[in-house]
Amino acid sequence: MEGMFLAFLSLRGYRACRVVAGRDKQNYVKKEECMSKEIPKVNKCAAMSCIYNKGGLCHTPAITIGDIEPCCDTFQKAESKGGYDDVIGGVGACKVSGCSYNSDFECNAAGIDVVVVEDHADCGTYKPRSG
Ligand code: SF4
Ligand code: SF4
Repeated sequence: MEGMFLAFLSLRGYRACRVVAGRDKQNYVKKEECMSKEIPKVNKCAAMSCIYNKGGLCHTPAITIGDIEPCCDTFQKAESKGGYDDVIGGVGACKVSGCSYNSDFECNAAGIDVVVVEDHADCGTYKPRSG
């Protein structure tokens, strides 16, 4: 049987599906196998100058953290604000493999706080691996 992967990033999480199609004895068979996962929320963000920050909350669906430093790579400045008012952001991807919450370049924390360090936005939940 041959497989084809489809991935969807919704406002609440991540859903990946595989459509498997082929022949089973005399019949043509097509089925969908899916897995889904909630992505960790950005509970609060102190980077008020970011276009996605309104009232200390992130309003873009999925941010990227990293890579070597745990900075918010989605941070952006512009004349006007952006994002979706009815969306609270989550961690779509994290490239900081040295964090103890990181597994396969995905964040497994319950949620994160973003803080300002010097002039940039950092993941305040970052915890270096021990040893
Ligand atoms: S988490 Fe990142 S993208 Fe979201 S508001 Fe803060 S700095 Fe901006
Ligand atoms: S807690 Fe760790 S794994 Fe999660 S976003 Fe922050 S740095 Fe990345």
